[in-house]
Amino acid sequence: MDLVRIKNVEKKYKNGVTAIYDLNLAIEKGAFVFVIGGSGSGKSTLIKMLYREEKPTKGQIIVGGLDVAKLKNRKVYKLRRKLGIVFQDYRLLPKQTVYENVAFALEVIGAKKDEIRVKVLKALEDVGLKHKLHEYPDHLSGGEQQRVAIARAIVNDPKLLLCDEPTGNLDPDMSMEIMKVLEDINEKRGTTIIMVTHDKDIVNKMKKQVITLKEGRLVNFKKKGTYNNEAI
Ligand code: ADP
Repeated sequence: MDLVRIKNVEKKYKNGVTAIYDLNLAIEKGAFVFVIGGSGSGKSTLIKMLYREEKPTKGQIIVGGLDVAKLKNRKVYKLRRKLGIVFQDYRLLPKQTVYENVAFALEVIGAKKDEIRVKVLKALEDVGLKHKLHEYPDHLSGGEQQRVAIARAIVNDPKLLLCDEPTGNLDPDMSMEIMKVLEDINEKRGTTIIMVTHDKDIVNKMKKQVITLKEGRLVNFKKKGTYNNEAI
């Protein structure tokens, strides 16, 4: 079963730049997919279209049965509930503890206190940070902050986790820790993961699916891929 289906998608920005040309892609449930390619190849645009930050100018995007481009603004929450998103710069609330940062994602959708507690503790356990729940973000290392951001993204058990350069600010050791956490979430929770990265070592070590974009076009899609020359 495909969780994501992209059919003949084009994205042309208002300034006339075409970021994505005629993209066709299917991503199965439970897959772990890297998106690689040079700067300006369309990676972020692709991710943004998946969470409806941007709309395609042509074609169709289906995520978990929802026709993303056609969703009315007031229905976008239906899509967002199927998704978790992790960014390069963590985006934690500095004045909130680890627990509160993760709980916030559930409070905004009106979850009950008991349910919040169970889910937050489980998510923090899954990222190896249950012992730091009372800490504030500025007392944590970059790798730990990113793990909090991952816990926040998975706390409501989304079908799809989108990661835009999640290791971009981290050293190689911390990056590999993050990758182990993501691999674990993919295997144990069955969450489908799409991750944009520039990191050649990570892609080569993990041996996951690899989508390569070049100047807005899909030039390679491998099941057990490595960082290939087309990405440079
Ligand atoms: P990548 O993530 O691979 O670096 P992007 O998706 O950010 O690539 O960008 C692809 C192309 O689209 C680039 O030429 C970029 O300048 C252009 N672009 C990205 N965002 C916008 C925007 N909001 N408005 C206009 N052009 C954009």
